Amino acid sequence: MSTSAYDIVVIGAGPAGLTAATLAARAGLKVLCLDKLAPGGVLINLTSLSDFAGGGDGPTIASQLADQASEAGVELGFGEVVRLSGGVPWLVETADGETHSARAVIVATGLAKGRLGLPDEDAFEGRGLSHCASCDGPLYVGKPVIVAGSAGWAAHEALELKGFGSEVTVVDIATAPLPDGIARLDGRIVALQGGDFLESVIVESGSSRKTVPASAVFVYLGQSPAAEFVPDSLARDAAGHIVVDAEGRASVAMAFAAGDVRAGARVALADAIADGQRAGQAVVQAVGTALKKN
Ligand SMILES: Cc1cc2nc3c(=O)[nH]c(=O)nc-3n(C[C@H](O)[C@H](O)[C@H](O)COP(=O)(O)OP(=O)(O)OC[C@H]3O[C@@H](n4cnc5c(N)ncnc54)[C@H](O)[C@@H]3O)c2cc1C
Repeated sequence: MSTSAYDIVVIGAGPAGLTAATLAARAGLKVLCLDKLAPGGVLINLTSLSDFAGGGDGPTIASQLADQASEAGVELGFGEVVRLSGGVPWLVETADGETHSARAVIVATGLAKGRLGLPDEDAFEGRGLSHCASCDGPLYVGKPVIVAGSAGWAAHEALELKGFGSEVTVVDIATAPLPDGIARLDGRIVALQGGDFLESVIVESGSSRKTVPASAVFVYLGQSPAAEFVPDSLARDAAGHIVVDAEGRASVAMAFAAGDVRAGARVALADAIADGQRAGQAVVQAVGTALKKN
């Protein structure tokens, strides 16, 4: 067990967290950016991106953001945060028993994996249920797969799966236009069927139910904020996202949130980066003011 002190601890090294951490370190503050996985967040698994003017693929952007953070002097740490407590200073505890203290914290932990909300869902995790087209798509060449999700980029993921040669059906997208060659089924998945591996799903649409063959379902809906460790003192919306003001300040002093974990986020890369910039600027100002007073 060890304890270390920072000006700022950023929890989550996705695009929002890395951007905020870089800004804070460039202002001369001592910054730790912690992640339970490698830096990059969701980007690591996105071999192609839609709706991002900057261009490039996810892993390349992830490594650029991580390099910028390191060059700015951010300490990139590995650890799953299990508890955030205190106030000023904040205490950030990790699953492996480390505690870090900080004058300010930025929560940038994004969203947890999507859920269909079905009782037997966990049993099919890794046996047909997936959350990553680029990682698992090659397992389903020539097989029927379903993309469940309503975000615009879910259609993009469907296209990536089509590229692997799968027969792709999108379930649940009511509005987004779909690329050619991708079938649409309006409705929602209400049951998963199979033995050791997924074989089919039941899709409910209005009063009718239909069995649809599926070797895999890529779940891009039902994502909840990854913020179980955040204390109750921070205001949340009904779904558990952290409520912030226009600069990313949460409801308790010296706590900030950025990216998908905050209430009202659009769930898109450009927005996560812009959010990280706002929260980074706000935290620099807040810590700078506090240091001048001491
Ligand atoms: C499948 C998929 C495809 C997408 N495609 C596109 C696209 O084409 N175009 C686009 O603009 N957007 C796309 N998006 C959305 C975009 O990727 C996200 O909006 C963006 O990554 C959000 O950034 P973030 O930093 O808020 O969170 P994330 O990228 O989710 O990063 C959060 C980080 O926090 C870490 N973390 C979580 N909990 C803890 C904890 N307790 N302790 C320590 N670390 C923790 C995670 O490991 C992760 O690294 C896609 C999203 C998904 C899921």
